[in-house]
Amino acid sequence: MSKQIEHILKAVKEHEIGFIRLQFTDIFGIPKNVEIPAGKLQSVLEKGIAFDGSSIEGFMRISESDMYLQPDPNTFAIYPWTMDSSRTARIICDVLLPDGRPFPGDPRYVLKRAIAEAEKLGYTMYAGAEAEFFLFRRTPDGHASLELHDRGGYFDLNPLDRGEEARADIVVALEKMGFEVEAAHHEVAHSQHEIDFRYADVLRTADNIVTFRFVVKTMAMRHGLHATFMPKPIAGINGSGMHTHISLWRGSENAFYDPKDPYGLSAVARHFLAGIIEHIGAITALANPLVNSYKRLVPGYEAPVNISWARINRSALIRVPASNTPETSTRIELRSPDPSCNPYLAYAAILVSGLDGIRRKLSAPDPVEENIYELTREEREERGIGSLPGSLDEALTALKQDKIITAILGEHILEKYLEAKERELQEYRLAVTPWEIERYLEDY
Ligand code: GLU
Ligand code: MG
Repeated sequence: MSKQIEHILKAVKEHEIGFIRLQFTDIFGIPKNVEIPAGKLQSVLEKGIAFDGSSIEGFMRISESDMYLQPDPNTFAIYPWTMDSSRTARIICDVLLPDGRPFPGDPRYVLKRAIAEAEKLGYTMYAGAEAEFFLFRRTPDGHASLELHDRGGYFDLNPLDRGEEARADIVVALEKMGFEVEAAHHEVAHSQHEIDFRYADVLRTADNIVTFRFVVKTMAMRHGLHATFMPKPIAGINGSGMHTHISLWRGSENAFYDPKDPYGLSAVARHFLAGIIEHIGAITALANPLVNSYKRLVPGYEAPVNISWARINRSALIRVPASNTPETSTRIELRSPDPSCNPYLAYAAILVSGLDGIRRKLSAPDPVEENIYELTREEREERGIGSLPGSLDEALTALKQDKIITAILGEHILEKYLEAKERELQEYRLAVTPWEIERYLEDY
């Protein structure tokens, strides 16, 4: 028995854990799980467990539905809100085919392939995510509503607020699960919050995002609230982003740092940034996966619309945050992703785009420090500032044309993803929205 397995079994005994949730995600990043009693854990850790994946979105057809879950022992964590005889822990799993090969429909495997590509070039990617979310009231019968729980604003200190209480409990739960929470604050909009946890290698951060969303939703529900990571739940106020801080490391050195550059960025960082810009259309199809995602990417709400980078400008797609320890913390912040994305797929796309920039030595455009929302269309055109896709439709078209990103997704995920997203778009086209009724019913 490996030391790690021994360690987990000991923790299970010590904490009197009754059940283990074996967790993985579908192609949309929605967590799924199979529960086993603690007594079965040793055999599952050693040999994996068979399960029927036929009804998981983006997995197999009925005839080929037998798959295996192989737990990743690095991801063992106890759900701190479970008590007594139902004390539960979870382990994140890789999905395997019966013959032991990785299942090509497993999003975590897509990210692992991208990581392997980076390793071949000698790089490790680190990522830190700032996932924003809204807390809404639940109706007495438990359904989510759009009713705000507070009237708070950015960094407000408002002790009587139910959202604050829920957020404090979320932070405690996250910390008990091994997260290092760096900051938690009220965001710009009423009922909107942000909790930042420490950056890590990109696989761990993607795992953490899935866990984070689950913990936030679980703790909110225990406070009679509904947490949503929907990118733009309310028109006319800020939406929720998931800004992602990125750096590449070579061993113990930050490969993005160069003290001689005015922005502190190395050639590697500039090529990586240029790679993101080159592939941003297809990245958007994964990092902004919903019809609703494109209602956030509009001018005036601190979300990016144009393809540009800068140091302080919050209207830019990519920002280079200032730092007083630049040797270690030089990084770029991609501001377009939203928290509804599947982080495994979105981060795989970002990583291979950056690597493509490095391989081809792509050069980044000049930074744009002005507020781009205020530039006219002519000024933007003159300076070659393009726009992010304006709709899911446009983003999917960009994805289909992008050889690097379609290659990392692989045929299986690409086909299932496009199928599902085109179905979603079609449903949207068929819907007659309240806006249309209000706008047209009486005038025409
Ligand atoms: N909520 C904004 C967004 O949609 C970001 C606000 C901020 O800068 O934190 O990206
Ligand atoms: Mg924020």
